[in-house]
Amino acid sequence: MKGHDVGELRVRKELSAIPDYKAGKTAPSAIGVKDMFKLSSNENPFGPLPSVVDAIAGHLGSINRYPEMAASALTAAVAERYEVDPAAVVFGSGSVEVVSQLIRATAGSGDEVLFAWRSFEAYPLLVLAAGATPVRVPLNDDFGHDLEGFLERITDRTRLILLCNPNNPTGTTLGHEEVERFLDRVPSDIAVVIDEAYVQFNRRPDTADGIRLYRKFPNVAVAHTFSKAYGLAGLRVGYAIAPVGLASALRKVALPFGVTQLAQIAALASLKAESELGERVDWLVGERIAVVDALRRKGWRVPETEGNFLWLPLGAATSEAAQILEEQGILIRPFPGEGLRISIGGPGAAELIVDAVEVLVEKGHTGGAFEHAAKEGLQR
Ligand SMILES: *Cc1c(COP(=O)(O)O)cnc(C)c1O
Repeated sequence: MKGHDVGELRVRKELSAIPDYKAGKTAPSAIGVKDMFKLSSNENPFGPLPSVVDAIAGHLGSINRYPEMAASALTAAVAERYEVDPAAVVFGSGSVEVVSQLIRATAGSGDEVLFAWRSFEAYPLLVLAAGATPVRVPLNDDFGHDLEGFLERITDRTRLILLCNPNNPTGTTLGHEEVERFLDRVPSDIAVVIDEAYVQFNRRPDTADGIRLYRKFPNVAVAHTFSKAYGLAGLRVGYAIAPVGLASALRKVALPFGVTQLAQIAALASLKAESELGERVDWLVGERIAVVDALRRKGWRVPETEGNFLWLPLGAATSEAAQILEEQGILIRPFPGEGLRISIGGPGAAELIVDAVEVLVEKGHTGGAFEHAAKEGLQR
């Protein structure tokens, strides 16, 4: 049944500028492909650790109770893990909610929020939902952040800068020193957030270290999530480590009871099992390196990636390539006209990715569009 239209109801008019959020596709059983690999949402392919399942199982009987809003045990554990003041740690229903808190705590109508583009899909939606104005800073030729471009776009309306390191969906990273130099030039009343959703996968030795930057600069906050490396995407828990004044502002705009008790317990158990989870992360990084190497050997331009995903800049050939990859049994995330993002999957996924991309070359019936796009990328 079709729902009622908005009709006469006065919904905020800014909302009409917000496109619907497009989540990564779920494996369509109807398509008739068995063993479809869902590589469209950067999820951890591994199920939860037994210790995490056990920890949650012990609390299923108390879901009639509200969660503890302050998440004190988890707050203490994160504060200890990073040697920060517990007052600096704020949780949210995934780090998407944390980023939303950061935006709504700093920016409203008429204020500007800067972020790279293309970057995380949710940024423009959250900024628009807050009533603020998104300012997109185009990526540089290597699909990374153009920090000079950010500086050029700072105005007296700028309230918040979001840096995504590694950048979703391109995988590129920021260097520590370049971000330090950048922060030296950003007015100190503008908050700068380093979104480190994929920090555990980032093996670049001199990459920007969000926590160190937070310690050095009074306007820097870091956003982390339990969704990716820790594999808790379905439970929704993330956090910010922010200057204490900003942190208390975040708590004011946070969704009340936004982090369930089960999520708090699972996150705590995951922190305790960090080394075990680290082995899985290492394995995924190994797979990433293998896939990227194999594709590069075949002549594809794959930008530097330090996430659990890789980016193929296919331009106009993107949608058709996505279709062909789907026929090969892998669901990926297309950004039509730009490129596609492929998450690193579990056992067997790496080989399938390489083979499926090979099929793209064979099926280059659009005048060799895929090869052309790849070569064009190589020449940049
Ligand atoms: C996945 C992701 C997040 C957070 O996801 P949550 O599940 O809400 O914690 C945040 N930032 C980026 C860049 C991401 O890719």
